Amino acid sequence: MPVENIGGHRNVGLIMKRTTCKFHKTSVGHRSDTVYGCEVCNLHLCKECHVAYHKAV
Ligand SMILES: [Zn+2]
Ligand SMILES: [Zn+2]
Repeated sequence: MPVENIGGHRNVGLIMKRTTCKFHKTSVGHRSDTVYGCEVCNLHLCKECHVAYHKAV
């Protein structure tokens, strides 16, 4: 199981325009645009933040 898959929440490339990572601004302190996100939460999350976000919740 890839690390980006947490409880069925997979980090996938969302077929849409780049959008700010929902977690990045609060966790890292600056904005980061990404095309990746969680298809279950319907949130944009870059790969690093996907794991951190789902562990924090
Ligand atoms: Zn991020
Ligand atoms: Zn999710």
